[in-house]
Amino acid sequence: MEVRRTASVKLIVSDEQRDAFAATREQFLWCANRAAEFCWNKYDYRKCRTNKRKVRDALYDKFRAETDLHANLVQAAIKRAVEAVKGCVERWKKRQRVSKPEFTSWFMDYDKRSSTVRRNEVSLSTLDGRVECDFVLPSSSPTPYERYVVSEEFEFRTSTLHYDAVTDEFSLHVSIRAYDSDDADGSADTEHQTVLGIDLGVNSLAVASTGTFWQGDDYDHWIREFEKRRSKLQQRGTQAAHNALLRLGKREEAWRKQYIHTKANEIVAEAIETDCDAIIFEELDGIRDRLPWAEWHHLWAFRRLFEYVEYKAAEYGIAVEQVKPDHTSQRCSKCGFTHKANRDAEQFCCLRCDYEVNADYNAAKNIGLRYARNEYHRLRSRQKSETGDAPVDVRLNRGTMTDDGPRPTAGD
Ligand SMILES: [Zn+2]
Repeated sequence: MEVRRTASVKLIVSDEQRDAFAATREQFLWCANRAAEFCWNKYDYRKCRTNKRKVRDALYDKFRAETDLHANLVQAAIKRAVEAVKGCVERWKKRQRVSKPEFTSWFMDYDKRSSTVRRNEVSLSTLDGRVECDFVLPSSSPTPYERYVVSEEFEFRTSTLHYDAVTDEFSLHVSIRAYDSDDADGSADTEHQTVLGIDLGVNSLAVASTGTFWQGDDYDHWIREFEKRRSKLQQRGTQAAHNALLRLGKREEAWRKQYIHTKANEIVAEAIETDCDAIIFEELDGIRDRLPWAEWHHLWAFRRLFEYVEYKAAEYGIAVEQVKPDHTSQRCSKCGFTHKANRDAEQFCCLRCDYEVNADYNAAKNIGLRYARNEYHRLRSRQKSETGDAPVDVRLNRGTMTDDGPRPTAGD
């Protein structure tokens, strides 16, 4: 059974940190109030906007451009506004008096990406970067703080920073979840996750465990075109050519960014459409050794793609994780047999079970499976129990599979 708890802890805040929080909170409230204004319609509650995703799509980019807030603080502010408007609409339906939500009190909502809660300190995102504060340790024991915040069995979820002007104190309300091991039947009902595995490569820029390919050949083609134009200009050697070269460089960079943005959006859309909770990539460290034929613009593309997917996915509450890439290209995603000779360039053919499939697609499934296995072991060790299903499924073209192998519904 999943247990959620909230604990309130006081923070030790320096004057400098206080200023950083105040400036950040100003922009946070600005976003929340602007979002509330956007969602509100004072004449008709049916015209109030209460669809979180649609509101986010309409406002996120603008707010990001107009503030210096961390991406997740912008999202949190929008979420606050939508929830407040939703609450108003509910009261309005019951013919209670309502008015447009206005945020004036001192608070900011943090999540795992905009903050880090450690055993006796917290790090919170502000306009001045991360601010690290110590907790005021409670004098009496056991307090909820000790039981929940410092317990390793609890996982930190979200928190809200408050400031009390009367006592001049900052406090953090931390929401935590844990898996209750005292469950009646001894089995733990963990939150089931479905993930999308992504393999990065040169032939195909990205391949998903669902069998969707993002070809990179048009990317390669345009990079070559830019290179041709560049070398022509370099040969001329005039001042005009030099200026044109600078402009070309800027244009190329803008084009490359736009290209990768489009692909990142498509990958996130794939995860949304197939109802995935997380997108799994391989670790990028050492990718140069694994893909010796990758050129600088490929490596650039992999890093950008990962970054864009990570921040784009966060808007939809989809996590992005990385796993170690060891042998993901040599392992058979069907039977688990791992051998160098399983792979022949773009084709994968298992020496043991004869499973034949595109090599990158096979690798994408293995990347999802590796994450599933890691999660399974992590939760099992936490629950100290031998029972329990694998907590993660990997999304395939049809159906899903777990680390134990394909399920009856699984397709290729
Ligand atoms: Zn096999």
